[in-house]
Amino acid sequence: MTVTCARCDKEADDGTQKCPRCDYRPQKSMQVMGAVIFIIGLVTSVLLVGIPIAIFGAYRLFKGRNLTIESEYGL
Ligand SMILES: [Zn+2]
Repeated sequence: MTVTCARCDKEADDGTQKCPRCDYRPQKSMQVMGAVIFIIGLVTSVLLVGIPIAIFGAYRLFKGRNLTIESEYGL
């Protein structure tokens, strides 16, 4: 069985991890893609977690401006 390289269309043995002509490695590009998606997911999750934290911080910041001694523990 032979497979065709997705990049240069050269035939290679089935199960070959690297194209003998153009050095194309689907495994590697898959892993690079996975790493990129993983980083995007990581950044996005940090942002999603960060939004309520930032709102909470902003709320505390705004409330802190009008804070008096009497209302200090009333928040
Ligand atoms: Zn190739």
